[in-house]
Amino acid sequence: MDLQFTQEELDFQSEVRDWLKENYPEDMRERHNNSPNGSISREEQMQWQVALYKQGWAGINWPKEYGGAEFSASKKYLFNKEMAAVNAPTVIAFGEKMVAPVIMAFGTDEQKEKYLPDILSSKVWWCQGYSEPGSGSDLASLKTKAEDKGDHYLVNGAKTWTTMAQHADMIFCLVRTSNEEIRQMGISFLLIDMHSPGIIVQPIVTLDKAPEGHQEINTVFFEDVKVPKENLIGEEGKGWTYAKYLLEFERGNGYSAGLYSSLEKIVDMAKTPTSGGEPLMEDSSFKEKLADVEVQINAMEATELRILGSLSAGQNVGPESSLLKTRGTEIGQLITELAVEAVDYYAIPFNNPGPGIGHNEPPIGSAFANTSAPRYFNYRKASIYAGSNEIQRNIMAKLVLGLT
Ligand SMILES: Cc1cc2nc3c(=O)[nH]c(=O)nc-3n(C[C@H](O)[C@H](O)[C@H](O)COP(=O)(O)OP(=O)(O)OC[C@H]3O[C@@H](n4cnc5c(N)ncnc54)[C@H](O)[C@@H]3O)c2cc1C
Repeated sequence: MDLQFTQEELDFQSEVRDWLKENYPEDMRERHNNSPNGSISREEQMQWQVALYKQGWAGINWPKEYGGAEFSASKKYLFNKEMAAVNAPTVIAFGEKMVAPVIMAFGTDEQKEKYLPDILSSKVWWCQGYSEPGSGSDLASLKTKAEDKGDHYLVNGAKTWTTMAQHADMIFCLVRTSNEEIRQMGISFLLIDMHSPGIIVQPIVTLDKAPEGHQEINTVFFEDVKVPKENLIGEEGKGWTYAKYLLEFERGNGYSAGLYSSLEKIVDMAKTPTSGGEPLMEDSSFKEKLADVEVQINAMEATELRILGSLSAGQNVGPESSLLKTRGTEIGQLITELAVEAVDYYAIPFNNPGPGIGHNEPPIGSAFANTSAPRYFNYRKASIYAGSNEIQRNIMAKLVLGLT
């Protein structure tokens, strides 16, 4: 495996860095840094994605034939690294990184034409309708029903934990079109307009008590929702195959760049003197914890580069994506724990909205106090979503290690 980047790749990295300096608005950066769960408003998120699109940096995984940037694995890595270094908002994955590859692989020409350009240009916001009340890890037990009514399906049921459904224009859904002995065979993959009559979105309040505007997850109810037949992806009853294909993309993200950048923030926090004491950085046991996390990120980065190597050779991410998801989220959780330790008791009033933009009063305690606890609570989710880490371990045991 050759881990050296070429001069052309390093030049590209400088170009991204310079572009971010020029184009990542300071006020958006401030809001993003201070947001309790790292999110910004729908409008700002869209504005950011459109800026990337105009620069030709949308669809970094997409082939050129669909208008994507089609970065090589190395360029993708360097691009994500620069984005993470300045904590730029990541592209909402549901459209560009999740449903788009499924449409490209299994959709009709009409579906490609209808959906892909609007995903690329961020005109349409998507959400994911897999999980249901009672069907999470055992997803094949899902019950949301799509009845064949000739030219359309009639959908009834509920999806839950649906991230940012309140913003979405479209939802890609797994629905039951028949009851088969092998449950997976009765599942189909439907694209549903979120503005259809009969769809109700109900927010779920999370542990971080995110203030209004930062709400993250929802339950989506479907009551006699009419969905045109042309919104079916591929063949009826083959949805499980498409759903599994999508999950590889959901779990195969690079983590190390973001983790390094989060760790750097902890180092900054730990350098700030505490009231009546030495900076935490002087504490050898804390320094040991920081070093331990850094070593774990180094190992993660080496694994990502190894996987990048096989991607460059034209292979899919495959079940190794479970490994990235598990380690990436575990290390991320560790970092949020260190953040709470670093700001100490200033983490307690965790729902403090904090100083507004342009506020000139110094923050009480630490500049990081407002976000440490909400992010700690919020990030508990990471070992659950996209398939819990226990389920990922089952996948690794079976498909990576060959255990039965
Ligand atoms: C913040 C957040 C956002 C989410 N966003 C979305 C979204 O946008 N769209 C969507 O469709 N879903 C979403 N999800 C749902 C997520 O995919 C499910 O929560 C997840 O698959 C687990 O399912 P469950 O919650 O039903 O837990 P369960 O499946 O009931 O699991 C409960 C516990 O049992 C363990 N467990 C279950 N089965 C096994 C097994 N066979 N072996 C070992 N341990 C097992 C699990 O690991 C877990 O700890 C989101 C979840 C969260 C927390």
